[in-house]
Amino acid sequence: MKKIISILLSATMLMGLTACSASETQKAKFEAGTYEATQKGYGGDLTLAVTVSETEITKVEILSHSETAGISDTAIETLPAGIVENQTVALDTVAGATFTSTAILEAAKAALLAAGATEEDITKAVETVVSDELIEKSADIVIIGAGGAGLSAAVEILKAEGSVIVIEKMPSVGGNTILAGSAMNTSDPLRQEAITMEASEMQTIEEILAMDFEDSLVLEWQATLQSEIDEYNQNEETYLFDSPSLHKLQTYIGGDMIGNPEIINLYGDNTQGALAFLEELGMSWNDSINAAVGATWRRSHTPAKVFGASGADFVLPQAEYVQNNGGEILLEHTAEELIVEDGKVVGVKGVTAQGQPFEVMANKNVILATGGFGANIEMRQEYNEYWPVLDETIPTTNHVGATGDGVGMAKAVDANFVDMEWIQVLPTYGGGIITAYIDNQIYLNHSAERFINEDARRDELSTAILSQEKGEVFILSDANTVNDKIASIAYAESKVEAGTLFKADTLEELAELAGLDANTLVATVEAYNAGIDSGNDEFGRNLLNEKIDDAPYYIGISYPMVHHTMGGVEVNTEMQVINVNGEVIEGLYAAGEVTGGLHGTNRLGGNAISEVVALGRIAGQNAMK
Ligand code: ADP
Repeated sequence: MKKIISILLSATMLMGLTACSASETQKAKFEAGTYEATQKGYGGDLTLAVTVSETEITKVEILSHSETAGISDTAIETLPAGIVENQTVALDTVAGATFTSTAILEAAKAALLAAGATEEDITKAVETVVSDELIEKSADIVIIGAGGAGLSAAVEILKAEGSVIVIEKMPSVGGNTILAGSAMNTSDPLRQEAITMEASEMQTIEEILAMDFEDSLVLEWQATLQSEIDEYNQNEETYLFDSPSLHKLQTYIGGDMIGNPEIINLYGDNTQGALAFLEELGMSWNDSINAAVGATWRRSHTPAKVFGASGADFVLPQAEYVQNNGGEILLEHTAEELIVEDGKVVGVKGVTAQGQPFEVMANKNVILATGGFGANIEMRQEYNEYWPVLDETIPTTNHVGATGDGVGMAKAVDANFVDMEWIQVLPTYGGGIITAYIDNQIYLNHSAERFINEDARRDELSTAILSQEKGEVFILSDANTVNDKIASIAYAESKVEAGTLFKADTLEELAELAGLDANTLVATVEAYNAGIDSGNDEFGRNLLNEKIDDAPYYIGISYPMVHHTMGGVEVNTEMQVINVNGEVIEGLYAAGEVTGGLHGTNRLGGNAISEVVALGRIAGQNAMK
């Protein structure tokens, strides 16, 4: 991804730098040659080569790395050139890619020291002078936030032949979406027909059909589901049933029935389209359909990683389309305020990372797609009413930019907010976790005992884990899990090597490695496998498709982290933002995590990606009308 902004150096400063270089060329600093150095980045070793003459750094080249596509791109593209341009390694790290940046700067420093430089020679601070001239731009639609929702909206605007500017405060696109584990939920007749439905899954449907609802839309979904299931039974089908009506009902029930049925309806009708939309942009899907942690049904789709790591596939296809079709993405531009004229939102003002002010005016509308506030501890604490505490002791999965800026901007134009108190804590994320799915995995405590049905909702799982010893969970898998379908063998092996995952050929050996009681572990697994035979799990788990009986076995410790903020601005089914008086705010649309209403108290695992794509597209289409 090209960096669209550039640092403006004043003429005086350029002259100063030139004068300085001229005097320094007198003195030899390096032994001319090419020097290699390696440092640990985020994903593993990063190796670079630095070429120097006696007086200058002439080239910095990254030879190999395992950094995450999309997230690390800016650091990899800009820092080597920056070192050559400024003849120093004392450069700022790229926000959101701190590990990669530090690895590049430290490796370059090590190589330069090996070339005979002194620390002083290569760590001179770069001075920049920033213009205070107002940057002025305009487009049909201005979008704030280049995550999944903002970029999906931008594609639709370009398809409708509008012009679009996307304002993004970070140095790279993607937000939380690019960090996503991998799952995207949608019913999918094509792929689900290849899977057999378990009796316990049919039981789940029957329970939903027997529930009492009040809302007329929800009753319609239930009636549709009933007729779909009648037909399924009449035809004596055996495939894994799914449909938009079941997905809508589970989304509503999973959020304790406080979500807005109209928004859930819009979402459920558009998730299959979201899958096809991404495919048309060049990504593809693995054929296996699984249940993401907290998904409550096997409808989670995994990308085939065409564009990079899993999350990259949900964002980079759109970003590429936007850039190839005349859209503009302004990186390192932080929106601070919505510009309002005669009661209508007409533009956005803010400041670049270098401190230069900007105003981007919208000929038609503005779309707010700034994501959630999971990385803003103050806001978490302010709104949280459910968890005992969400302070710095509970880490987050979110990127550093998930600070809820959209909430402040929307508040200033009197937007109404819904469900702000509901904050999702992801039960398993860090440590020895190897997949975002729960198929063929069980959760154990320090006594090697199960304590919950692993296919429960995320809030129930997190609450249960936090009440175990040390607030952590052992996740047990076997070779059936680590089969390159739901968990990559290479990824699991890298965790074994790093010591965060234990692997053994028998459960007894595994227990010893993990410090668990072997007899209890064996008994726990036997009881779980017996539940699969009888179709009756002792904790009421419904997803009973695979026994844990295939060596080698794996176990790792994980723990809950703040993951998603369910609440946000209220929107109508056009994705227009509603104010505190229940009226539409003219000129303002919103989509993605900054909105509330879809997930209620608890978002189903895998529903966020389909939300940002499905509803981001609708915001884009409607904003262009
Ligand atoms: P969603 O899943 O709803 O699309 P993401 O977290 O993926 O949310 O994307 C939201 C994007 O909005 C992030 O890339 C984030 O950096 C960006 N963003 C947040 N606040 C601002 C702001 N004030 N100005 C510009 N971009 C912002």
